[in-house]
Amino acid sequence: MGIWARGAQIADMLTDALFALQHRGQESAGLSVGDSSGIATHRGMGLVTEALPAAATRHLSGHVGIGHVRYSTSAESSLDNAQPFAARTAAGADFALAHNGNLTMLPVPVEVGAVGGPAVERRHAQSDTRRLAALLKDEPGSLGDALARILPRTGGAYCFVGVSAGALFAARDPRGFRPLSIGRLAGGGWAVASETVALDNLGATALRDVAPGEIVEVGEHGVHSRRFGSAKPALCVFEHVYIARPDSTIGGRSVFDVRRALGVALARCAPADADLVIPVPDTARIAALGYAEGSGIPYGEGLFRSPYVNRSFIQPSPGLRRRAVRAKLSPIASAVAGRRVVVVDDSVVRANSIKHVVAILRKAGAAEVHVRVASPSVRWPCFFGVDIGTSDELVADRRSAEQIADLVNADSLGYLPAEVMLEQAHGTTGFCAACFTGEYPEE
Ligand code: SF4
Repeated sequence: MGIWARGAQIADMLTDALFALQHRGQESAGLSVGDSSGIATHRGMGLVTEALPAAATRHLSGHVGIGHVRYSTSAESSLDNAQPFAARTAAGADFALAHNGNLTMLPVPVEVGAVGGPAVERRHAQSDTRRLAALLKDEPGSLGDALARILPRTGGAYCFVGVSAGALFAARDPRGFRPLSIGRLAGGGWAVASETVALDNLGATALRDVAPGEIVEVGEHGVHSRRFGSAKPALCVFEHVYIARPDSTIGGRSVFDVRRALGVALARCAPADADLVIPVPDTARIAALGYAEGSGIPYGEGLFRSPYVNRSFIQPSPGLRRRAVRAKLSPIASAVAGRRVVVVDDSVVRANSIKHVVAILRKAGAAEVHVRVASPSVRWPCFFGVDIGTSDELVADRRSAEQIADLVNADSLGYLPAEVMLEQAHGTTGFCAACFTGEYPEE
């Protein structure tokens, strides 16, 4: 998230906007705010409410700032790896950087100065973002110039926001794996965000996506754009399936509309003879509505999701994921007892969640449990910013739908074919669907 606005409470605005992005990262959060004379940073562990209390952020003043919520995919979940990263260039200029994605290739070093100041501590840099900051700080010129020189030599998935010399910078990799949008603030000024819902939260008008391969600089003279690579769009289709909020628009399509269309198509591709369609809440709720619409089977709620437990898929370890699944979901016995239930999930990666769901629905008295998945089987790892690990961890690796149904004790299990998913998600961009198809958009 980034904001450039004169006369505004940037730290408060960033914090409010990060609430709208909390589903993208729940491990740590941070803000860097400043002007042409310097930048101050605060980072903390936990959710936005825990990491960014007003008492800790009210001293962050200036007209430009960036904010970040972290979901760790390349380095451990720790305060040291929380973002934004702040550093100082060899010429003495402060800058700060925040990143969404995974850098699969970086030109050189493994050392960087300590956060918030000049080179004090020299150590192995765990985080790909920190390594990029190490490269940028040795580059001459503006942060935009430095990004334009370094980014063509990197690989992988990235959206960056940065702040330096009173200006806001945003960049998106040439594939555009992760979403990034620009909006105009009602009171004057600009905002960039991973999802349009954060712009909505600020009362901003979403204008356009940052284009794949584009660097945007926002300063006193408005918005300046430059290209550092030719666009070969491969937006992560998993954004539509699971990651993004349904009230966002990504790649020219409403996430809500895509999820509902996936559910309608799933009813056609994987029908079931049942009495009731229920979602695995919350992400699959809209696909389940679509399935009910497409199948004519009544929709209902059969599982309660505790709002006090974080998203389980993006927990940083298998143990935490299992605990979160158990604590998060419980059955509504009066809704499912004696009924043949179709339970719709958005995706099945390791199957911890769906195995638990089938078990608690059976215990609550469901007569039959048919699992329907509003995406194809996940069979290949992701190298572009989602923690879909090695093939061995993936339940669909070398297992058929029937074998997975047996494993999770479901009466049947059906997926949405990849070509149908891509047909339903179509918008203004091309897609990456590599974890479903094995066809990677880059080496
Ligand atoms: S491999 Fe899957 S999760 Fe990763 S970017 Fe591609 S579609 Fe998204």
